[in-house]
Amino acid sequence: MKFNTKTIHGGQENIDPAYGSVMPPIYQTSTYSQSTPGGHKGFEYSRSGNPTRSALEKSLASIENGNFGLAFGSGLAAIDAILKLFKSGDEIISTNDLYGGSYRLFTRIFEGLGIKFHFIGMQDSGGIEDYINENTKLIWVETPTNPIMRIIDIEAVSKIARKHDLLLAVDNTFATPYLQQPLALGADIVMHSATKYLGGHSDVVAGGLVVNDKVLAEKLYFIQKASGAICGPQDSFLVLRGIKTLHLRMQRHCENGEAVANFLRSNPKLDKVYWPGFEDHPNHDIAKKQMSGFGGMISFTTKENTLESATTIVENLKVFTLAESLGGVESLAGHPASMTHASIPKEKRAKTGVVDSLIRLSVGVEDAEDLIADLKQAIG
Ligand SMILES: *Cc1c(COP(=O)(O)O)cnc(C)c1O
Repeated sequence: MKFNTKTIHGGQENIDPAYGSVMPPIYQTSTYSQSTPGGHKGFEYSRSGNPTRSALEKSLASIENGNFGLAFGSGLAAIDAILKLFKSGDEIISTNDLYGGSYRLFTRIFEGLGIKFHFIGMQDSGGIEDYINENTKLIWVETPTNPIMRIIDIEAVSKIARKHDLLLAVDNTFATPYLQQPLALGADIVMHSATKYLGGHSDVVAGGLVVNDKVLAEKLYFIQKASGAICGPQDSFLVLRGIKTLHLRMQRHCENGEAVANFLRSNPKLDKVYWPGFEDHPNHDIAKKQMSGFGGMISFTTKENTLESATTIVENLKVFTLAESLGGVESLAGHPASMTHASIPKEKRAKTGVVDSLIRLSVGVEDAEDLIADLKQAIG
């Protein structure tokens, strides 16, 4: 099965043996009757398993080309489950330009439990080995990075992970499996905030993991069941419905992203425009190698480079909505320094390029002409 077919049919065979419904029913139930103690039909209690969630988990595995999928109540719940594989004294190497909530979870929860994190730039994957010691257990990669759109060479990092017997996890939220398939590039775990492109309609918060290795899948399943941060049946249904049009939406996100990126770059009031599709983007070659398109996430700064200049633009936007999040059909604009990345200290933010005038766009699937006209009037 090829990708577009998988988004619709992957893992969905015989989804409703009772009536043959085309979409899996929303099994809004906490428990399941047993004919005799232990005599159940595959589901006992909805924390440990639910047929609607199971349909989503199979779909996730299918689109990421993996063997096992797990669905969680949010992207951060999925990351939390990964981190529970480790114990006090273990060390994790992470990209330094990453989702603010991931950074907060790492530093405010798991550092306190004794796990040590090293946040480093990974565009030069060679530098990673300087941070590896006998306690290192995991490399955490987010690519494209958020919000500066740097690209990290997953295959190169995976070779380092293999060499030192470390796990490699990739947050694939921005790229989605439509653009990038980390397992095929050597990652052990793919993570998603399904809240974003997979759900695609800004109507659900959910997360997912996909792995190939059975033992790793069993450990993660145990954590999912034991800690309980599961994706509910209604939310599972919504993400499944979103995935069915992922390929159509992503195609338009990429087209609109290119049009908007080119417009921004030509605007004299703006300074930097970050989009991996530009030929002079520092990691464009890697992007071309590991991604099949460049997506609809774009960040830019103003020439004035002040907080006020950015605030004026985002307040003037009419088609773009000023809001956190990304990946929905509607275009959103965000101000990372005060919104998604406010949990990262100012000096640390600025070091990775998240200055006060930085604006991040999630370019939606509206008409590109309307999006460009809106940006034009807002930038002034
Ligand atoms: C939103 C996001 C997360 C967190 O996901 P939630 O569903 O909000 O918990 C993690 N990583 C990236 C890249 C994100 O954009």
